Amino acid sequence: MKYIFGHTKPDTDSILSAILYSNYLNSKGEKSKAIKLGEINNETKFILNKFNVKLPETIKELEKNSKVILVDHNEEKQTISNINELEIDTIIDHHRFNLKLENPINIRAEKLGSTCSIIYKIFQEQNYDISEEEAGLIISGIVSDTLYFRSPTTTEEDKKIVEELKTKSGIKNIEKYSLEMFNAKSDLGDMEIEKIIKLDYKEFEFGGEKYGIGVIETTNPEYIFKRKKEIVEALSSIKKKENLKGILVSVIDILNEHNKTIVADEHEAEILRAVFDGKEIEHNVYSLGPIISRKKQIIPKLEKHFGR
Ligand code: MN
Ligand code: MN
Repeated sequence: MKYIFGHTKPDTDSILSAILYSNYLNSKGEKSKAIKLGEINNETKFILNKFNVKLPETIKELEKNSKVILVDHNEEKQTISNINELEIDTIIDHHRFNLKLENPINIRAEKLGSTCSIIYKIFQEQNYDISEEEAGLIISGIVSDTLYFRSPTTTEEDKKIVEELKTKSGIKNIEKYSLEMFNAKSDLGDMEIEKIIKLDYKEFEFGGEKYGIGVIETTNPEYIFKRKKEIVEALSSIKKKENLKGILVSVIDILNEHNKTIVADEHEAEILRAVFDGKEIEHNVYSLGPIISRKKQIIPKLEKHFGR
């Protein structure tokens, strides 16, 4: 049995790519199970409901020596807690690689907009018969990760795949569908503030120190900024509690393709001014302009700033 999972604080791409790849392996008679490392967001919930797909079980730790397949991530800080006791069989990912491996493994990495795009290419190469529901999931993964082709991580291949699968998926209007997805994601109700910060949150190491970087992609930034005071307080408290050198959360206005980043205090503010030429627009809030991809526009710049 192989367990397939995406990163902690799962997003749509990591959940859907695990489900899709598990379908494929099972069809070949290789026993596998898609699982997740944490709760899903409202966008993913909306998609799973729409296509009537079963929610993967949450598992925080696997039995020693279990075989695992990592999708949509490869970094130790973003994976299952006891990864060092497990046997990594395969990694399928579209992020920078940052891992130490003791054993040879299968790696499939491509510079595409989503892991679902890579899964689609594997399906094609293997002549796997894609169902209507799977076509819908692949499109959803691509639309989610690329913010419907707005993100600079988008490639021509991602667009082509969506086009190819459109008819099969039964989704009539992809743009309208993308809005439904993004609105579902933006509907946070009265969710606890720390939960909002950690919905799409990753830890990184820069200059030997731990940093937390959250992203809130939303069609309703007003809602987030109404709760700014709470967010700043929560950032400070997470920073202390989790021994971080710095923490920040980028609020991405999807429709206007604009980034306003909230910081805990002066340390992070200094970094934003130096690295992104960030302008303070309110106390603790910096405009980073059209920087909307953590992976492609934020992390590489921070890495360069701190030196690897
Ligand atoms: Mn992801
Ligand atoms: Mn992804």
